[in-house]
Amino acid sequence: MCGIVGIIGVEPVAPRLVDALKRLEYRGYDSAGVATLEGGQIDRRRAEGKLGNLAQKLSFQPLGGNIGIGHTRWATHGAPTEGNAHPHATDRVAVVHNGIIENFRELLEDLNKDGYLPKTQTDTESVALWVTRELDRGSIPRWRWRGR
Ligand code: GLU
Repeated sequence: MCGIVGIIGVEPVAPRLVDALKRLEYRGYDSAGVATLEGGQIDRRRAEGKLGNLAQKLSFQPLGGNIGIGHTRWATHGAPTEGNAHPHATDRVAVVHNGIIENFRELLEDLNKDGYLPKTQTDTESVALWVTRELDRGSIPRWRWRGR
């Protein structure tokens, strides 16, 4: 069972995301990751194994951004690798998810026809790709964070 956290803050949130994930460690996990939004750009760090690995990665490659999401993963679809760790992201959207997308194969088949191709083995990535396609089509109004 995974842990999910989101923070909208007034200073860089990556350290607090990791701290919040630590409080959810008891739930069990095999990998972890965080994504933040800075200057309209999504960036992320992910790591296999314990949160210490993610924290170490962040110490070498810090993330800015006062808004972000974090996840500890308990893999159901796709091996517990860094590449399959959440958040799953495109240049427009980042997603963390707990559970299973039962119809992800059908979603991916449909997305493939429009050229939206997965880079991971997870069910979750189908959501990131789906929302990205709808944003690209203009069917979802673009949400803008007007941070302080
Ligand atoms: N089904 C998703 C995956 O395997 C989410 C697993 C979870 O709940 O952590 O990536």
